Amino acid sequence: MKQITTFGASDFTIDDLELFRDIDDPAVAALLAGCAIVRVPLNAAILEDTQARLYIVLSGALGVQADPHAEASGATAPTRIQAGECFGELSVLDNAANSSSAVALQESDLLVIDATTVWKLIDQCNGVARNLLRLLSFRVRAANAQIRRRQKVGEFYRQLSMVDGLTGLYNRAWLNDILPALVRQAEAGQPLSLIMIDLDHFKKFNDEHGHLAGDAAIKMAAQVIGAALRPSDYAARYGGEELIVILPDTDLDVAVMIAERLCERMQHAVVFADMHLPLPHMTASFGVASLSRNQDGNDLIAAADAALYRAKHGGRNRVAR
Ligand code: GH3
Ligand code: MG
Ligand code: MG
Repeated sequence: MKQITTFGASDFTIDDLELFRDIDDPAVAALLAGCAIVRVPLNAAILEDTQARLYIVLSGALGVQADPHAEASGATAPTRIQAGECFGELSVLDNAANSSSAVALQESDLLVIDATTVWKLIDQCNGVARNLLRLLSFRVRAANAQIRRRQKVGEFYRQLSMVDGLTGLYNRAWLNDILPALVRQAEAGQPLSLIMIDLDHFKKFNDEHGHLAGDAAIKMAAQVIGAALRPSDYAARYGGEELIVILPDTDLDVAVMIAERLCERMQHAVVFADMHLPLPHMTASFGVASLSRNQDGNDLIAAADAALYRAKHGGRNRVAR
């Protein structure tokens, strides 16, 4: 027969409390009988003074915020501590200040066990020590899961911040991130080429067909380029109507061939501003450059830009190196 102890107004048995589950020990009941029960009103904070304590929720519920700073930024929802569960065990065990804060989510009765009594319970009853270890392992697992979730969310937003919203291609931030690494790889001996692409007379296209049609044209250009590249190549939106293609392990002659192919596909692609009305074909100009000795990523971009300028001056809708 389990020891049944009734705590004040709350008719709880010891067995209802997770820390004392499956424990049938009169010594435990005696120690708990000497502990205070406090009633905390809705929204009251469980304030800690210098003394560490373990709180067991007998009725009601607490909301515990592991990191009070996270609460301020609204980053994580508080953990709900229900009747039968406890709070504050870590600060009792390591005698350090509690880094979490707790608030009563409704009027709650709390059994308050001071640190000395907690240690007595552990010393006198193996079952309490075992339950506490199990509880701590749950806490560690939950904390690890939360860290993994946060890492995933962080990685998701990092990746999102590297992608251009209109085209789905990488953006300039990504380019700044990746180009130095690609240049370093190329310094080991492989060639590295870059194609700078600029849509022709795009201001006129915008003026005649509207900004939304202009957006559709930029999207179409991005699709044409994205679809024509090898998995090892990269395409990014450099700015407005300028796109960039990076071709690792590709020398200048091959890069020019690839640019010719892109130029050809671009002029035949169709832009639809809506589903019915095809707009005039777009063309683009292409400047191609390969990394030379002692150049860095910016030098490579500048060289491709200079080639692009020659393509524009040569009459547009063409490739220059
Ligand atoms: P060129 O052949 O010499 O490149 O002439 P251009 O008219 O294409 O060049 P210019 O740099 O004068 O104009 C670029 C235009 O691209 C102006 C700008 O309004 C437009 N543009 C830039 N970004 C966007 C965008 O995201 N959407 C739309 N619709 N237009 C854009
Ligand atoms: Mg431009
Ligand atoms: Mg242009």
